Amino acid sequence: MVMELTDLLPGYNCGECGFRSCREFARALLGARDLETDVPLDLCPFLGRDRHLAKRGEIEVKLPEMRLRWAEGKVDEEVEIRGVIDGLVADFALAPLPGDPSCREDLLVIDRDAGFEVGDVLRYRPLGCPITHFGEIIKIDHGLVTVQMVGPRHLLGDDSFAPRDVGVCMVAAFEGVVSRGRVPEVGETVRFLPVHCMMQKVHSGVIVHSEGRMVRIEGIDLKVW
Ligand code: SF4
Repeated sequence: MVMELTDLLPGYNCGECGFRSCREFARALLGARDLETDVPLDLCPFLGRDRHLAKRGEIEVKLPEMRLRWAEGKVDEEVEIRGVIDGLVADFALAPLPGDPSCREDLLVIDRDAGFEVGDVLRYRPLGCPITHFGEIIKIDHGLVTVQMVGPRHLLGDDSFAPRDVGVCMVAAFEGVVSRGRVPEVGETVRFLPVHCMMQKVHSGVIVHSEGRMVRIEGIDLKVW
């Protein structure tokens, strides 16, 4: 049920609502956070924008019954993890590591003249993906730039938001936690759905490291294997 509601939210994972991600906001809306007051939809400023009004309407219709079902413990177990854009079934959903706002992405920045350092926000388009991403650099190591998604705060008129435009990048790896589905073996080629993916598109890659439910996936491809 959390994922069903998350899919109706804008998907920017920007934190403007006061929660670390759209998924956390969805959990709070359902009443899963044990908060003292009801959480209003208006905490997400994007839900008032024209392009999100239809989904906002859908949330307003569905939320009362969802809250009831949640409170009564009648929570659907989502047995199948299916991409929205391609309808493909994934082996698992990939959620952020504990304390992280989004799954980590390792980038190969193609523009060698682009200057940046840890703490900068990059504006980039992953090769093969039509969506522009905004990621804050948390590590640079041997040419791999590790980022976490941040929302497009400039859409809200935040003048201090000055991302560095680095054009098209290769997404080389993802790191996160298997939140739903089966935990894969090292060496397996897998299909997975990053929970922060705005298109909710199934990705493929190879597991190169796992520890409990934490996994690192390399050889990322949007043409799913
Ligand atoms: S888009 Fe931003 S403000 Fe809206 S629910 Fe997602 S994280 Fe919260």
